[in-house]
Amino acid sequence: MSEFELVIRGGRVIDPASGVDAVMDLAVEGGKIAALSSSALAGRKVVDATGLVVSPGFIDIHSHVDGIPHAGHCNARMGVTTVVAGNCGTTVAPEGLDVAAFLDRVDRNFPVNTAFLTGASDIRKAAGVDPGKPASDEDIGRMLKLAQRALDGGAIGLSFGIEYSPGTSSKELKALGDLAHDRDIPCPVHIRSSGPFVPFLKSGAPAALMEVLDAARKTQARFHISHLGGQIGIRTRPREALLEEGLRLVEEARSEGLDIESDMHPYDAGGTWIDAALLDIFQMGFPVPQVIKRSVFLDIGMIEVGTGPHAGERLTRPLLREIRKKDPRTLVVLHFFDRDLIERVLMRPWVSFISDGDFDPVTGAPSHPRCSGTFPRFIQWLVREKKVLGLSEALERMTIMPARRFGLEGKGRLSMGSDADIVIFDPATMADNATYREPDKAPSGIRSVFVNGTAVLDGGVMTDLMPGRALRF
Ligand SMILES: [Zn+2]
Repeated sequence: MSEFELVIRGGRVIDPASGVDAVMDLAVEGGKIAALSSSALAGRKVVDATGLVVSPGFIDIHSHVDGIPHAGHCNARMGVTTVVAGNCGTTVAPEGLDVAAFLDRVDRNFPVNTAFLTGASDIRKAAGVDPGKPASDEDIGRMLKLAQRALDGGAIGLSFGIEYSPGTSSKELKALGDLAHDRDIPCPVHIRSSGPFVPFLKSGAPAALMEVLDAARKTQARFHISHLGGQIGIRTRPREALLEEGLRLVEEARSEGLDIESDMHPYDAGGTWIDAALLDIFQMGFPVPQVIKRSVFLDIGMIEVGTGPHAGERLTRPLLREIRKKDPRTLVVLHFFDRDLIERVLMRPWVSFISDGDFDPVTGAPSHPRCSGTFPRFIQWLVREKKVLGLSEALERMTIMPARRFGLEGKGRLSMGSDADIVIFDPATMADNATYREPDKAPSGIRSVFVNGTAVLDGGVMTDLMPGRALRF
């Protein structure tokens, strides 16, 4: 009997795409899955997975890891083997629109695989368009050229962050959507929301969603609503009604045959740094009119100081001013989500599971527990505690479904010839340990993580190996 490079022995192998869920040996050779067998396989290295689950590695299609070294580490540690960078219309990667240079850097020099979306806000900026103003026909011509170049450099899709580029017009969405349709690439969109960047007349989640659904109708492009609920899943009755309306609009579009899906993370509070522009509204010198307050969704009393000497205190205007001056990298916790509303989004079968974690681009420090605990938390919350999803169903939403959605070939499967991206974990103990105060804490219950057949986490210990590859379109 031949010996394989690596054998994972006696684990419960779950491959959601085929429905396989059985105790088996799995062999790896040359970075690919080389055998699956209910009888014993021989390997030069053998990992005992008795009593554990062997799953395709998790795929995070809404990531802001963007080649930041420590961010890659946080992801590998929670079972993620592939990330999609460049979401929400922009990237923090210094290469910017030089996609080929970015992909070269992360190819073999990053713990996990990376695919890249080129961002419409970055393209607008490079074309010299003011974020608040609509692009002219000439601007759109220049933007299309820049987008084409980025796609030729290996980007797998085009992301939008309309909230941050509120000048985005339906004409522009149509032009870029046509390009995306021609190239058959996904277009994730961070929609215009009721945040402070929005002209008031265009605010309100249904309008923000409708403009994307309209663009999808006109172009037939694969638009994808990013972190649905992240902007509209807020406390209070009217917000709940808005969210229900948003879900209904997406389902209506899907029933017309449009290829629309979405994604969401599993946390009921937001987190960011105290110097984030989002909080500027609380430092305006004049009384903020009611109409803005309503559109802004945030009340200062919903914000808790996360770190530093004032940790645990609710924010006030004087405290905000003081901390911004003394320590602008203090973390704050934004208590504006509702757990039940998030669950309502996650239970839609067209919603992939994602992290949307932000990291400091210089230090790599995570801003939110979802940077370190997202994927274990899905299992812990929805499978083990609430029992609203089966294990294989939950794994499907974080493996094969996102892989198909973003065209990541060879990913999200445990089948012969698939890439050997594998996570071994204990579903009975897998847990998210990160908190708003300690967002860098590792999860528990994950034994090993393999990327292209090489261990990045081995017996619970990070190896510091860099087997991640760039995924080019
Ligand atoms: Zn976003």
